[in-house]
Amino acid sequence: MKIYADNAATTRLSDTALAAMTPCFQEVYGNPSSLHTPGQQAAEKLAAAREIFARNLNASPRELTFTSGGSEADNQALRSAAALGARRGKRHIISTKFEHHAVLHTLQALEREGFEVTLLDIPPGGVVTAEQVREAIRPDTCLVSVMFANNEIGTIQPIAEIGAVCRQAGVLFHTDAVQAAGHVPIDVEALQVDLLSLSAHKFHGPKGVGALYARRNVPLTPLIHGGAQERGKRGGTEDLPGICGAAAAFDEACADLERNAAYLTPLRDKLIAGLTAIPHTVLNGDAVRRLPGNVNVCFEGIEGESLLLLLDEKGIAASSGSACTSGSLDPSHVLLALGRPHEVAHGSLRLTLSPENRPEEIDYILEVLPGIVSYLREMSPVWDELETGRRPHLI
Ligand SMILES: *Cc1c(COP(=O)(O)O)cnc(C)c1O
Repeated sequence: MKIYADNAATTRLSDTALAAMTPCFQEVYGNPSSLHTPGQQAAEKLAAAREIFARNLNASPRELTFTSGGSEADNQALRSAAALGARRGKRHIISTKFEHHAVLHTLQALEREGFEVTLLDIPPGGVVTAEQVREAIRPDTCLVSVMFANNEIGTIQPIAEIGAVCRQAGVLFHTDAVQAAGHVPIDVEALQVDLLSLSAHKFHGPKGVGALYARRNVPLTPLIHGGAQERGKRGGTEDLPGICGAAAAFDEACADLERNAAYLTPLRDKLIAGLTAIPHTVLNGDAVRRLPGNVNVCFEGIEGESLLLLLDEKGIAASSGSACTSGSLDPSHVLLALGRPHEVAHGSLRLTLSPENRPEEIDYILEVLPGIVSYLREMSPVWDELETGRRPHLI
């Protein structure tokens, strides 16, 4: 069996998205900035795509800027809010310890440029509170950035409550909604967000396309200087095939949102129940306030990487929380922020499902995983120390 259970990393392009992209390569190939008919046909498609995003987010088309993906949208959102703050003498930014690196590393760059950043702690369930945000806001705070759903543990944040706190305090609010868009409902008015990032390849659209929502009164600072595309907010000829594919995928994901969640939630819960029945295993993040397709657990006494290789041999594509950066194996900053000790964080496994996963696949995963965990534990000197009592169990 071949099972793809790494949909938080990226998804398979949907048939609908592919069908929307195909004519843009050889039929409607004009430059949307050109005045001739082929150019205007392309411009019409571009406008239609923008309208699809606006409609599904309850935004206006003018409030949407297409980017090269979630990372660029995050960079531009933070840099725009920071520039606006600096002009008003406000250089304090609030975010959280478990953001995606596209946010955390941009904040580090802003710190080097003179901004002060407060990163909120993550409570044990992986859900920050609006109260934490309220307490951190200062007179010189220019921006709050809290992700909608965490990409590793899938926990969903109280965006509407945080939006209300920010609006009341007169502070801009950005949310990295890359994991949430197309998976949970998003209404930018109801949520009171000012800036929101999304990325097509996380909802069965193409890679390399994203969008940044910016409320009408929030001016964006261009990161790419060039022509007047995207109302001067992002230079460069638009990726029309990508943008049309992204819009078609988003429209489909939003239309099927409830049905997909109803399909995925029981599969997710079955996996969680089966995996946490393995001794010395813990679920990461709240069991209920999480994305319908996200499962993330830590197995004590094993290395996530070895687990991934053995799963891959069995045809199962999964992920471990720990990112292997430049050869050094650092445990995931998300799991550490959640309070997992280093040794425990190393034994993490993330399985992220999409509507393309079949129930039989869940059964197969639950059939092979306990054996692989036992096998790895038998080989592990650490597990031997835990079992003989030379080291205390942590979970
Ligand atoms: C994937 C992801 C990003 C980056 O998006 P890209 O389109 O791959 O640049 C940013 N934030 C979160 C939460 C993500 O999951």
